[in-house]
Amino acid sequence: MKSRSFKFKFGVTAVAAATLIAVASTASGAAVAWTYTGATGPSHWKTIDPTNYAACADGSAQSPINIVNPVRTDLVNLKFSYVKGEAGIFNNGHTVEAEPLGAEKSTVTIGGVAYTFAQFHFHAPSEHEINGMHYPVEVHFVHKTDAGKLAVVGVFIKAGKENVEWKAFTDKLTVATADPEATKVELDWAKLLPAASKTVRYDGSLTTPGCSEGVKWNVFTTPIQMSQAQINQFLEAYSGNNRPVQPLNNRVVAVDSTPTK
Ligand SMILES: [Zn+2]
Repeated sequence: MKSRSFKFKFGVTAVAAATLIAVASTASGAAVAWTYTGATGPSHWKTIDPTNYAACADGSAQSPINIVNPVRTDLVNLKFSYVKGEAGIFNNGHTVEAEPLGAEKSTVTIGGVAYTFAQFHFHAPSEHEINGMHYPVEVHFVHKTDAGKLAVVGVFIKAGKENVEWKAFTDKLTVATADPEATKVELDWAKLLPAASKTVRYDGSLTTPGCSEGVKWNVFTTPIQMSQAQINQFLEAYSGNNRPVQPLNNRVVAVDSTPTK
């Protein structure tokens, strides 16, 4: 029974797994889905689909990275214009995502360029490291210009006080299905971000296949807090869905020089 083996293998519904397979097949004829461990894990992603996943092995500006001694630079704050509204929460087979369902448009402006908010999802533990250390969870807010340029905003989560703004999402982590329309909640997206605005910025890639480069990365240096119970809800949905850190090569990593903001 194919559907049963899919369900067993990926821990998601057969429908979601079948969708992933279909995507891979359409792209290249490959019949294997990528994973985070074993023979289809990160070091093998290119071999799964040498045409579309080549950058995963051959790229020179890949993400995530270990952030060490970023260069202090006078950066203009990211400007978030997030509009609260209805969110669809769904499990894509690799993580749980939330996407706006309404017509309202949320944006972030970085370096004078406005990027439209598309979705957030998470990795556990964090994909980026700070001086070789992981946070328990990292959330990626993914944005895109009309021309297809990508900017991702990373937010670390550490254990602490319960985070009521996140509760609508965290309570659905383990019940979300492959269908965003099946799990809808109200989210005030702006309130999901850290209060402090200092970020680390560098040019990188998507952290999942095809690992496309040209992604503007912006990682908040201050984590947000959630209760351990909330963090456990992330871990119950997915744990170990983080790509290992990649070589920095000759890239510059900048951090805002403003002491507190
Ligand atoms: Zn991500």
